Amino acid sequence: MRNFILAGCVLLLAATTARAEDESDMLLQNRLQAHIDFLADDLMRGRQPGSNGYNIAANYVSSQFRQIGLLPAGVDGGYFQQVPLRQAFLEPGSAELVLSHGTTTIPLVFVDQFFMGPDLGNTSSELEAGLVFAGYGIEAAELEHNDYVNLDAKGKVVVLIAGQPHDFPSEEGAHFSSTTEKTKAAVRHGAVGILMIHTPRASQRFQWDRVSSLVGAPSMGWINGQGEVHGEFDQIQAGAMIRHTAAEPLFENAPVDLKTLLERDGNGEALTTFDLEGKVSLRQRSTHENISSPNVVAVLPGSDPLLANEYVVYTAHLDHIGELHSDSVEQPENDLINNGALDNASGVSVMLETARLFTQGQPPRRSILFVAVTGEEKGLVGSEYFAMNPTVPIDSIVSEVNLDMPLLLYEFGDVIAFGAEHSSLGDTVKEAAQSYAIELSPDPFPEQNIFVRSDHYRFVQQGVPSVFLVTGLSSLDGSVDTQPIFEGFLHEHYHKPSDDLNLPINYKAAAKFTRINAKIGELLANDSNRPAWHEGDFFGRTFAK
Ligand SMILES: [Zn+2]
Repeated sequence: MRNFILAGCVLLLAATTARAEDESDMLLQNRLQAHIDFLADDLMRGRQPGSNGYNIAANYVSSQFRQIGLLPAGVDGGYFQQVPLRQAFLEPGSAELVLSHGTTTIPLVFVDQFFMGPDLGNTSSELEAGLVFAGYGIEAAELEHNDYVNLDAKGKVVVLIAGQPHDFPSEEGAHFSSTTEKTKAAVRHGAVGILMIHTPRASQRFQWDRVSSLVGAPSMGWINGQGEVHGEFDQIQAGAMIRHTAAEPLFENAPVDLKTLLERDGNGEALTTFDLEGKVSLRQRSTHENISSPNVVAVLPGSDPLLANEYVVYTAHLDHIGELHSDSVEQPENDLINNGALDNASGVSVMLETARLFTQGQPPRRSILFVAVTGEEKGLVGSEYFAMNPTVPIDSIVSEVNLDMPLLLYEFGDVIAFGAEHSSLGDTVKEAAQSYAIELSPDPFPEQNIFVRSDHYRFVQQGVPSVFLVTGLSSLDGSVDTQPIFEGFLHEHYHKPSDDLNLPINYKAAAKFTRINAKIGELLANDSNRPAWHEGDFFGRTFAK
C-alpha cells in the first residue's frame, strides 16, 4: 500500500515536472516569438544602421537587457557603444566603365553588365589604366599559391576571377578569397584598380540578377581616430564587378580566352596569368555623410573571483538591409521593406533568451557578454569596430559564439558551427548539442565561404577562438525534406522583403536552438581552461596574439 502510494507520488511528481517543463518551454517559445514579432515588424523598416527603425530596435534590445537583469557594458556606463560611420551613396547615372582596344571603345551597361558600389574613400574617382589578368588574385604562401608570380601589376588594373581554387581547404579558402585579402594582395603588387569577373561558379553564392537590389543602397565603413574609413586602400582608385557575359572583350588577343578560363574555373583546373592588351576607364561620383549607429552591449557578471574578469561573448547582428529603392524593382507598389525576420531578428531573439536562461540557472563562473552589433550587412562593420575597440580588454575575451540567420523553419536534427574544426570550441559545441540529442555536422556549403561572412570572423581576426552556430540540414523525425526548405529560403527569401513574419517559423525548434546555444556558453564559462586554437591551426597562427 505504501509502495503504491509512493509510486503514485512519483508518477504525480513526474507529471508535474513534465508539465512545468512544457510550460517553461511554451514561455520560452512565446518570448522568442515576441522578440521576432517586434524586431521584424514593418515599423522597423528593415533596421538599416542610422535609421529610426534601427534605433528603435536598439532601444528595444537595451530595454530587454535591463529587464532580464544584465548590466550595461557599452560606453560611459550605458548599454550603447556608438559606432562612428561614414555612409556613401552612388550618384545615380555617374558610374561608367569603358573598355578600349586601340581606337575601339566598348562602354558597358551599369547593372546589366557591370556594377560598382558607392566609394567610401573619395567623392569622385576617375581612373584610366592598362590591365593584367591575375587569375584569382590570391597570394597564399601557406597554401603554396601565388597568382602574382611573374606578373607586373604596378600601375595596372588587375582583372580577377571571383572565388578560389577548388583544392583550397574551405575556411582558409574563404579567408584568402575574401575581398579584403584579394585587395591587400593587389595593393602589395602596386595595382591601382580591380575588375572582378562574376562567373557561373560565383552564381552559387550570388546570382547576378540580385545586383539590381543593391542599386541605391549605401556603403558604410567605420571611421578611425584619423577620421578615415577603416580598411579603405587609397592606392585602389576604382573597382567594379563585371558579368562574365560582358567580360569577353577584355581578353581580346589574350593567350587564353575567357571561355577557357571559365571552364577551368568550373572544372577545378589551374588558371594562368598574363598581361592584357586593352585599357579600362572607370568613373563614378559618391556623396558622403557621417552618421553613427550603436552596438548594444550587456554583461552578466561571472561568479568566480578568479574567472569573472574573463568573458564568453555572444554576438548577433541587429541591423538588416533597410528598404528597396522603388526604382530598383519592377513593381514598386509591392512590399519594399526587408524585414529580416530570420536575418537576423531570429538570432537577436535567441541571444536575448539565452541571456535569460543564464539568469535562471546557477551563475556562470566567467562573465558573459552579449553584443547586438550594427552594420553586419555592410561588411561586418559594427563587429569589427567592437573587436578592435572592445569595451572589455580583448585578451579577456576567451571565445565568441555568433548567431546569424538560424533557419528556424523545422525541427532540426543537427547543428553546424562554422569554425568548429579550428579550436577546442568544436568539442564544446558537440557536447552541448549532444546533451539535447542533436548532432554537430561539418560545413555542408564549403563553396559559400560562410566562415568569413559573419561577425565571428572579426573576433577570429583578433585571435579569439570563435564559431558561428546555425541549424543543420537534418530533421528530427526524418520525414521532413529540409533541403528544399533550406534552399528555398536562400533563393526565395534571403535578403528580400519576404524574409518576414509570414515565414512558418518553428518556435519549438527555436527554443531548442536557444537551449543548445546557452549550454555552449555554460560549458565555456565554467571550464577552468580557456578555449584554445588547435595546435598549428592556420587561424590561430595567423591571428592569435
Ligand atoms: Zn544578411
